[in-house]
Amino acid sequence: MGWVNRWRDHGQLIFVDLRDRAGITQIVFNAENDPELHRNAKSLRSEYVIAAHGIVRVRDKGLENPNLKTGEIEVVARELWVLNEAKTTPFPIEDEITTSEDLRLKYRYLDLRRPRMQETFRMRHLATMAVRRYMDTQGFWEVETPILTKSTPEGARDYLVPSRLQHGSFYALPQSPQLFKQILMISGFEKYFQIVKCFRDEDLRADRQPEFTQVDIEMSFPRRHELFTMIEGMMAEVFALKGINIPLPLPRMTFQEAMHNYGSDKPDTRFAVFIRDFTDLFRTAESSLFRDIAETGGTVRGLVAPKTSYSRKQLDDIAAFVKQLGGAGVAWIKIGEDGINAAPVMKNAGSATVQAVIQRSGASTGDTVFLMAGPTEATLNFLGALRLELARKENWIAPGLWNMLWVLDFPLLEFDSVENRWVSRHHPFTSPVDEDLEILTSHPERVRAKAYDLVLNGTEIGGGSIRIHRRDVQSAIFKLLGFSEEEARDKFGFFLEALEFGTPPHGGIALGLDRLVMILTGQSSLRDVIAFPKTARAVDLMSGSPSPVSDQQLRDLGIQVRKH
Ligand code: ASP
Repeated sequence: MGWVNRWRDHGQLIFVDLRDRAGITQIVFNAENDPELHRNAKSLRSEYVIAAHGIVRVRDKGLENPNLKTGEIEVVARELWVLNEAKTTPFPIEDEITTSEDLRLKYRYLDLRRPRMQETFRMRHLATMAVRRYMDTQGFWEVETPILTKSTPEGARDYLVPSRLQHGSFYALPQSPQLFKQILMISGFEKYFQIVKCFRDEDLRADRQPEFTQVDIEMSFPRRHELFTMIEGMMAEVFALKGINIPLPLPRMTFQEAMHNYGSDKPDTRFAVFIRDFTDLFRTAESSLFRDIAETGGTVRGLVAPKTSYSRKQLDDIAAFVKQLGGAGVAWIKIGEDGINAAPVMKNAGSATVQAVIQRSGASTGDTVFLMAGPTEATLNFLGALRLELARKENWIAPGLWNMLWVLDFPLLEFDSVENRWVSRHHPFTSPVDEDLEILTSHPERVRAKAYDLVLNGTEIGGGSIRIHRRDVQSAIFKLLGFSEEEARDKFGFFLEALEFGTPPHGGIALGLDRLVMILTGQSSLRDVIAFPKTARAVDLMSGSPSPVSDQQLRDLGIQVRKH
């Protein structure tokens, strides 16, 4: 039983490729054996659902199909039932289609019939099962937490659900089960996990979805290395599904190292090009823009693009790339066969400085040094982006590398200049590093967090932290984040109270399951690993949600809609 994938009418013989979840099998209808059956088979069309009954036989010599797993056999039909007919599909059910994604999403059920999609969801199932099995063997309990809940701050906008019984009150869909999993630790559950949907109403970049799935984990009395070992074991099992060996233990890198060497808190370590600091060299340079920046608290950093010998046009393109990111510009030094050629900004700094830069950078003939100057964080970010762009252009990344690592010691806070206050980098329940507690109010910018991210090939695949388990520390953090006592009580009163009833030290992590599956299946979009995803405008093209509701429904909810 299955779908007619393809049919070929060769006069006396009709061949049907029957497709089901496992693949394709050829069925033959022979007019000589049974003229009536052969006549019936003539009515078959693509995507009809049929049942056939017959004899499996080895195909004649020379007629085998090496591209099919079942290519050495065929079924000679004795009986045929058409279980359901099908209209002509808007696109063919095969992997190589050029159909627009919108059409694929509108007819998602047809899109999901394609072999590549079926394989993707088989992998997703295997990954999910591997996680569940592994977590069970590690003593974790899967516990469900509510979807209709109270807002938890993960830094995004909430999806809200109006209450019918209390007009003007709203549930928030969880951005993550953060507070519930911490409360389960207070409940004495010790080890929790859940494969769970999270909802964030963000403007969607190419690789985001408004609802996505996390492997959410929390444990009591955690030691960081135990938690890491446990997650590493899980990653090893999940990647083993694809025959990929992840060498353990995973390397660890501090946030500082990641930013300074890679210009990113999710460093792609698959290629050895590193950012370097040249600021001190410019303090003694001839009077120039870079010297001004170096002298007024800014930084000058750069990287070497080996064996690039860029033309003027290519250098202009690179400058345009940096501008489009928002950077002021990029200076370069080309080390050619015929000598050194530098951008005007570099020339002003004087040839001694240019020489000193080349020497420190380790660049040699054929290489290009790129330099940027400005505030430290922004400069590192721009160089980090440039580093990745050059890697893409120059194919610096060898295929088949799986560089997974932990990034540690993130800053606890970052300053939000729009809101003019400190905000949590991770979330407000992340514990500061113990030694840094004393500088919490005097130097908030220097306080490190007990937070960690799991990074694979330059993509963050998970993040978590050891939590605050003391009420006084939690209150101090809320205060630092600018919540008044009243606001803190209003938003998290239940949680603050819970902290007062014997809260064990605890910590956890959440891993992005969609992204993991995307990496495992080599799909290039999150939408291809979610059965029913939404578009960049957060629309489900198949079911047509979101959609207006009836006036009666709005009245029940006490809601009046302003029409634009
Ligand atoms: N709740 C966090 C997140 O969704 C993860 C964690 O801290 O466990 O990113």
